[in-house]
Formats: sequence, structure tokens, C-alpha cells
Amino acid sequence: MTERLSTIGVRGILLDIEGTTTPIAFVHDVLFTYAKAHVRDFLVQHAHELADDVAQLRDEHAREVDPPPLTEAPDSIATYVHWLIDRDRKSTGLKSLQGKIWREGYTNGTLKSQVFADVRSAFERWQQAALKISIFSSGSVLAQKLLFAHTDNGDLTTFISDYFDTNVGAKGDAESYRRIATKMNLSPLEILFISDVVTELEAATAAGMQTRLSIRPGNQSQPDPDRFQIIHSLDEV
Ligand SMILES: [Mg+2]
Repeated sequence: MTERLSTIGVRGILLDIEGTTTPIAFVHDVLFTYAKAHVRDFLVQHAHELADDVAQLRDEHAREVDPPPLTEAPDSIATYVHWLIDRDRKSTGLKSLQGKIWREGYTNGTLKSQVFADVRSAFERWQQAALKISIFSSGSVLAQKLLFAHTDNGDLTTFISDYFDTNVGAKGDAESYRRIATKMNLSPLEILFISDVVTELEAATAAGMQTRLSIRPGNQSQPDPDRFQIIHSLDEV
């Protein structure tokens, strides 16, 4: 179906992770649970390496509404991290810290990531068609690279050109997609963005990108999904 992509002028694919390449349940049930279980010990063992992340958390804490108190103690920081994870906050400090906790888990073999069964074959097909494959996720770039390096379908990082996280901007902001197109060296029109969240597709559309709405088992239902072209598998792209 890559002919169809070339007829609509697509030269690059930009992919969301949760609900697009990977079951949402993996992120929430496996990754978040792992981070919560290990954060306190990790803070104690790697205090020096985590100073910037903790400073960022402290900075964000000052702007939160009714967070738990935050002191210098690892127990207190861990409690605040649990609070952020439970609310699925898109906190830059949290994302950075979680990435480092997961790195340890992937490296020591405790963690294995999940991608849907159609992901590897889609990557192979797109690579053969000389399409540039990039990722845009609210998880940190480190967390994204780890996830694609340790999947139940092997290491997929060889297929991926670029990784973007919220350092490029929010996923609901059209400006983020313009910046990504510039960094991918493509015009927004040449990029197909695939995500399970319609507000992200709206922002990408506003920036000029083409879009597909990913509907996978376990995804949250979206308002007026029929405004977008819907896919249930990357086999359809
Ligand atoms: Mg998603």
C-alpha cells in the first residue's frame, strides 16, 4: 500500500506510541507500575545523577494544585512521583526520571516492551519505500529509544530516524508539528502523522500534515472520530 502513500506525496511517517505502536495497557500497567515500584530505591542509589530531574520536579511542584508536600527526603520525592504517575501528568521532570528507571530495567532484562504485531512489518515496508520513520511521544526520547530497542519483536531502532518528545512542544500544539517537519527536512504535507488522540491529529492538520486515526484494542474512544481516516492496523498504511 506504499504506492498509495507516494500518490498522496508522503515521504515521512510520524508515529505516536501509546495506542498507535504499543498497547496503552503496557505503558500504564507495566511501565508506570515498574517506575512506582523502583523510584524510591533509585533516588537513593543515583542521587547525584538525578539532581537535575529532582530540581525540575521541585520547579513543577510549585505550580501544581494540591500536590503532596515535597522535601529533600527520597520518601517525599517518591510520594510526589507516585502522585504524578497516578494522574498521568506530562511532567518533563517525571518523564526524564522514569526514563532512567526504565533504562535500568531494560538493561538488566526485567523489562521487555510491547509493540503491536503489525509494527515490524510496517517499518520494513516503509523503509523499503524510502520513507523516513520518526516518533513523537510525550515519553522522553530516552524512554522512546529504550522501548523500541527492547520490544517483543526485537530491536526496531534501526528503522527510526528521529525521536521527538515534549521538548519540541506539546502534542496538542500545531507549532510542535511545524518544528518536527523542519527537523525531518520535509514539508508538513509530506508527513503522515498517526495517533489515537484526535486533538493531536487536529494540531498536526493545522500544521499541514496528513493524518490517520489509530483505533486499537484498549484505546479511549474519541469525539467525532469520523472526521479522520481511521486505521485499525499499520498494515492499512
Ligand atoms: Mg497515543
